[in-house]
Amino acid sequence: MDPKQSLLRQLPAVDRVLNAPPLADLAEKLPHAILLESAQKAVADLRRQILDQPAAIEDAQLSPEAVSARALALARQALRPSLRRVINATGTLLHTNLGRAPLSAAALEAVNEVARSYSNLEFDLDSGGRGHRYAHVEELLCRLTGAEAATVVNNNAAAVLLSLTALAKGQEAILSRGELVEIGGAFRVPDVMASGGVMLREVGTTNKTHLRDYRDAITDQTGLLLKIHTSNYRIVGFTAAVTAAELAELGRERNILVMEDLGSGMLMDLSAFGLPQEPTVKETVAAGVDVITFSGDKLLGGPQAGIIVGQRAAIEKIRRHPMARALRIDKLTLAALEATLRPYLDQQQALREIPVLNMLAVPAAELETRCQGILRQLSAVLGDKASLEVVAETSTVGGGALPLTQLPGFALALVPQKISVDELAARLRRAPVPVIGRIQENRLLLNPRTLQAGEEGELGEALASALGSTESVRR
Ligand SMILES: *Cc1c(COP(=O)(O)O)cnc(C)c1O
Repeated sequence: MDPKQSLLRQLPAVDRVLNAPPLADLAEKLPHAILLESAQKAVADLRRQILDQPAAIEDAQLSPEAVSARALALARQALRPSLRRVINATGTLLHTNLGRAPLSAAALEAVNEVARSYSNLEFDLDSGGRGHRYAHVEELLCRLTGAEAATVVNNNAAAVLLSLTALAKGQEAILSRGELVEIGGAFRVPDVMASGGVMLREVGTTNKTHLRDYRDAITDQTGLLLKIHTSNYRIVGFTAAVTAAELAELGRERNILVMEDLGSGMLMDLSAFGLPQEPTVKETVAAGVDVITFSGDKLLGGPQAGIIVGQRAAIEKIRRHPMARALRIDKLTLAALEATLRPYLDQQQALREIPVLNMLAVPAAELETRCQGILRQLSAVLGDKASLEVVAETSTVGGGALPLTQLPGFALALVPQKISVDELAARLRRAPVPVIGRIQENRLLLNPRTLQAGEEGELGEALASALGSTESVRR
């Protein structure tokens, strides 16, 4: 008989695959629809292989149990969570595609506690009456920034949109041409203004804007003097920009509100760790800016949130705007945010406990030692499957923050000998815990700065398996 026909005849029916172990044992535990679909797919895959390459098929592969095991692997894949942990070996601290800031242990605990039960989200435990959602972080934010009042929304894009709409709808906001920022995706300042019903009044030039440019543009239509932090680019060379303090003074003089979008927004000076000296939120409040917005999940190191601090009357107006309800943050975010903010009361504690600050502060020498540790562990396992070396590599902060800042460090540079570097990267993305590195000049760079506790071992396992080593990495 034709070998194809004989193999096809041996191929079990879907029903038999479902009724054979291991699938049969899991019938109660996994959704039937998924098991059925997986059994159908396993049978169809084998049928295609038989038709294409009958010589490559062995009889043992066609037993109901073997096909059932194949189907189980497919079912597990279908049931695997879509949103999963990955190992960030890019060295980029606030990788927007990888979820920006990992949360502190205290933030996780707070989320867990508030999520699993009921909470006093909008309940005043003193009076027994209705409380305010934002009260849980307002006092803390005021203490940390020196502002009179504070509120929070879903993210900083929302904070900017809401503040502009609440404070200057139907009026003009004056902004320097050098600060017409696009943050990424659909967030472009002129478009945000238009959608908030605020007329943009551009002043100055791309490289130079003077205080007189703002002053000359003020009319009875002016609702806001606006500054936007150029988070993700810099204008260098022959430049001039107006400081927050100068703009705030002009605003006071002419009785016009001044708002600044700080982007990342730092609660402490991080210049000791190689970051440029940028004004902290507190310094911006002290400079007299009325309304300041910044992100919760950039250098602050917390959950996605948009924080608005400033003058009480302006914050009240923002909070009362109907759109505020549509942009409000949920209790889990609020719990994580409060727990992230609290350690900032003591800067040393913040440096110890907030993962983003920890990772930022790791000295280059320590990264080199860590790379050498991974290298020693791996070279025994990988043998001639890849060449490995420790190289100097700078990493970036990411998340559209501090574009010119290069954090000096080290990375492991890997050149696979039997497969291409792209194939290696693809295999690492398919690992049980996917590993994301950076490809540069045909090498895969793995930077330990952004590895979390315990991930070095997992990274080793993933590499060994991707390169086809049979040795175990675990000691
Ligand atoms: C990042 C950034 C935003 C957007 O903040 P999200 O929290 O990502 O919404 C807005 N403005 C500036 C200047 C930024 O850097």
